Amino acid sequence: MSFMMRNLVKETISKTGERVRLMGWVAVRRDHGKIIFIDLRDRSGIIQLVFIPKDAELYKAADALRPEWVIEIEGVVQKRPKGMENREIETGEVEIPVERLEVLNKSETPPFDIAGVGMEIDEEIRLKYRYLDLRRPRLQKNLRMRAEFLNHIRSFLISHDFLEVETPMLTKSTPEGSRDFVVPSRLHPGEFYALPQSPQQYKQLLMVAGFERYFQIARALRDEDLRADRGFEHTQIDLEMSFVEREHVMKLVEEMVTYSAEKIGRKIKEKPFPIFTYKDAMEKFGADKFDLRSDREKKDGGLAFAWVVDFPVFEKTEGGGWTYGHNPFTGMKKEDEEGFLSGTADLEGLVSLQYDLVCNGHEVAGGGIRINRAEVLKKVFEVIGHTDDKIHSEFGHMLEAFCYGAPPHGGIALGVERFLMMLAGESYLREVQAFPMTSGGKIAVMDAPSELTAKQLKELNLKIDK
Ligand code: ASP
Repeated sequence: MSFMMRNLVKETISKTGERVRLMGWVAVRRDHGKIIFIDLRDRSGIIQLVFIPKDAELYKAADALRPEWVIEIEGVVQKRPKGMENREIETGEVEIPVERLEVLNKSETPPFDIAGVGMEIDEEIRLKYRYLDLRRPRLQKNLRMRAEFLNHIRSFLISHDFLEVETPMLTKSTPEGSRDFVVPSRLHPGEFYALPQSPQQYKQLLMVAGFERYFQIARALRDEDLRADRGFEHTQIDLEMSFVEREHVMKLVEEMVTYSAEKIGRKIKEKPFPIFTYKDAMEKFGADKFDLRSDREKKDGGLAFAWVVDFPVFEKTEGGGWTYGHNPFTGMKKEDEEGFLSGTADLEGLVSLQYDLVCNGHEVAGGGIRINRAEVLKKVFEVIGHTDDKIHSEFGHMLEAFCYGAPPHGGIALGVERFLMMLAGESYLREVQAFPMTSGGKIAVMDAPSELTAKQLKELNLKIDK
């Protein structure tokens, strides 16, 4: 047999009458009288293979095939007989009478069905056998869409002069408002790194460093209660820009989101995106995230974006003190800064430069124009009740950096999974992530978290208090 390149299933559509060599998995097997039909699946699609009893040895080999065996075949693509076409699959007009079959690997019977949508299967089992679950066409499609979407985002940002920069994973606690995941330090006994809740402080430091336009497709880790649309880990499209006002960032993000969503075939209900003040949104929708689609529009896969702006800088705490509305780095209107510094401003009435992007009822992005003056940032920490010691130990590095010519800057972070859930029409985060957590906080496929050995604990100077 002369050497033949491997073909992909989807290529067979345009190869009627040509010999092809395919490799993939047995998806489904059907026996019709003496004819054995096998649906072969590869990364590009599914095609029907046909085995007839004429060649006894080949037929016997085909008869032994079971779901998820890995096979290689050769044969000539032919049009299906009239009336036998399958409109459900892309290759539904053709089939391949197989002339050569080789089993590349066998498979145990899978613990669940792979051909279907898979929503009915117990979550623990699905995630324990995630590598099988991911074979299902729906998840293949979702992960491809994810990569495609991020690809468009990346090319958009690069073409707009943004620089992709990675920031540390082993870092310090940041006040994003959630519990940190911590990592013990071997070199510094008793000290801990925190995994980043976001690259917030680093991206601001990159603005101080003069990069002016930064982005990162960043992992963010927060030890929060798990929900359908919130996990311990998520990915953000994180960006920051210097010498901008709120409207510049909003316009750029709007263009980026529109470009990427339209590239993957989604319609946007209203452009430019409508803008609501926080007060209007609360009065009109009773919440700062809302759905602008009509009932008729809800099923057409369209995206209804809106901005929410003019949030309060500070909110009253139950104990009668103050806390920040979004994050302490978000600025206030420039004209309010002097009053704030001198203590004459009405704290409750201060309007922040925060902007949130909502889409189809979800908050998909949030950001703001930042405080770039050390004295203003310090005063914010004082108002929310931090002692000088705490300000110094937690944020001294930011205050110091801001003393060296910090440009005006602002940015945003867009939640990749939430966005993709809407693009893919999914209701759960796990449907757009490769290896998600179970709702009990386990990575089932690896059985993580797990215990450390005594040697590891000793190296880390840790004792477990059971
Ligand atoms: N760091 C913020 C967050 O993760 C987003 C931002 O303000 O850029 O929510």
